[in-house]
Amino acid sequence: MRILVVEDEKRLAASLRTGLEAEGFAVDVAHDGGEGLWYARENTYDAILLDIMLPVLNGYKVCETLRAEEIWTPILMLTAKDGDWDQIEALDTGADDYVTKPFSFIVLLARLRSLLRRGASERPATLSVGDLELDPASRIVTRAGKELSLTSRELSLLEFLMRRRGEVVTKAQILNHVWDYAFEGDPNIIEVYIGRLRRKIDKPFDRNDIETLRGSGYRLRMPA
Ligand code: CA
Repeated sequence: MRILVVEDEKRLAASLRTGLEAEGFAVDVAHDGGEGLWYARENTYDAILLDIMLPVLNGYKVCETLRAEEIWTPILMLTAKDGDWDQIEALDTGADDYVTKPFSFIVLLARLRSLLRRGASERPATLSVGDLELDPASRIVTRAGKELSLTSRELSLLEFLMRRRGEVVTKAQILNHVWDYAFEGDPNIIEVYIGRLRRKIDKPFDRNDIETLRGSGYRLRMPA
């Protein structure tokens, strides 16, 4: 069994390697999201242990990117007990399970073994909100059966809004999920992208489903 560990805390990564090797696993370690993605694409692993807060590319983005490329290696997310990064979000981006830091190695090993028994998950189901549909695997978006042409960033933003349909999402949440963790540009970029999305998914259909809630964020309206 071959495991990829993507963890930027060097001591934790080293102790995971030592522990897993002692259990008979072959282990590769990557210390940032970009490197982790490269390893996951180039090799075949039985499972990936993926930290969320990573340099270069955060764990959510690594997970989303792999799933979008139809790489279904089971992923166990290492989540921190920190309000911004919750477990449900980890599962939403295509992870199979999670453990919350700090964790004991015994617990991690039990979760990992159970994941290995279950094997790779099915491709994710198509998301739909009213007549709007998004297939996370093929990256195709349709409204009322008509295929829409979205850029990759617009599609990620729409996917994020669709997964949280009916909920208010803040700009900070959007930045964390749709842009990279290390994004330091102007957060107003979100307004620009929301505007583009509206011109593609709402205006041509005479709809107004992406709501702006002044001072709090955005919400994708649920169908009546
Ligand atoms: Ca980290």
